[in-house]
Amino acid sequence: MRIQAAVSRDARRPPELEAVDIEEPRAGEILVRMVATGICHTDINVHERDRTPKPVVLGHEGAGIVERIGPGVTRLSPGDRVILSANFCGECPSCRANAHSYCYEVLPRNFGGRRPDGSTPLSQDGAPLNARFFGQSSFATYSLADERAAVQAPDDLPLELLGPLACGVMTGAGSVINSLAVRPGQSIAIFGAGAVGLSAVMAARIVGATRIIALDIVPARLELARELGATEVINTSTGQAMPRGVDFTFNTTRSPEIFTQALECLAPRGVAGFVGAPFSPWTPDMFQILSGGRTLRGIIGGDSSPATCIPLLIEYYRQGRLPFDRLIRFYPFAEIGRAFVDCEHGTTIKAVLRM
Ligand code: NAD
Repeated sequence: MRIQAAVSRDARRPPELEAVDIEEPRAGEILVRMVATGICHTDINVHERDRTPKPVVLGHEGAGIVERIGPGVTRLSPGDRVILSANFCGECPSCRANAHSYCYEVLPRNFGGRRPDGSTPLSQDGAPLNARFFGQSSFATYSLADERAAVQAPDDLPLELLGPLACGVMTGAGSVINSLAVRPGQSIAIFGAGAVGLSAVMAARIVGATRIIALDIVPARLELARELGATEVINTSTGQAMPRGVDFTFNTTRSPEIFTQALECLAPRGVAGFVGAPFSPWTPDMFQILSGGRTLRGIIGGDSSPATCIPLLIEYYRQGRLPFDRLIRFYPFAEIGRAFVDCEHGTTIKAVLRM
């Protein structure tokens, strides 16, 4: 079938819409008509750097309607509304322990651009196109995904809102709830008030943290952080004093200086969580980690199992405790280039493309 997909060919130009061909679903796969997809900073990072081979169709916060199912698909049927999450094998020790975000095959299955057998569902004039980014390549009007990575969406909420629950919102909220397991009365400093950081702010309030410090360089994001539950905000570009003695830090930036500050802020036995690698080499102060029994903790997907975490986040949203819709700005699919630029410039927090 001929579809439209936004193809990343060159880091210097945003992805552009092109006509491509998509296969029929294979065993265990579903063909999803995409209704909308979020743009996560990971899409932008990968577009700008070469973690996944180009040309590639990116996108991993897709939401849509199942159109056709492949052999062996039993849980979903055509017409079902789904949110597509990251891909996992379902068989390794992590997957068996319900820790899907640490699947032993997390990198090849999400960043490899191909299925495990080397095939890809998209092609152009017979030439294969890297797809299967996070098992979905959702910057397209249709996506082929694994049934196991799809979560059923409720009928009464607009599907176009729900894609970001699969990555940005789940990672921020899940990091606080699951990975760091912040408890009532504890303190957390959240570096970077973007989609992931602001979701962490909302979750910190949900779990009862009493000191929630949001740090960023964009004043409007700090204002929103305060509205969403931050008890203090700090603009790191103005030389304001850094917090001290917090139980947790959560770093959503990739700045080596912020990695150092996030460790320095920690109380003894504190945990410094981070979701992206520093963009240039960084050496932690091992004596500081050792002497305070501190932990530096890498986090993927907020340690969330999408099948249970997404419904929980939806329930918090319904209760008004996780108003993640306040982060979203919609764009027509054809304006993906403008959406990329707005996210990079910090004027849009969570861009969602409407197909
Ligand atoms: P974003 O761009 O919306 O947020 C990053 C924020 O950091 C921005 O608000 C920016 O202004 C702020 N920032 C940058 N430099 C700063 C500094 N020196 N001091 C203070 N603030 C600073 O991006 P996002 O979508 O929230 O994603 C954040 C990161 O998380 C990205 O690197 C993304 O790749 C990563 N990510 C990881 C996972 C995971 O599972 N590990 C999942 C989703 C996203």
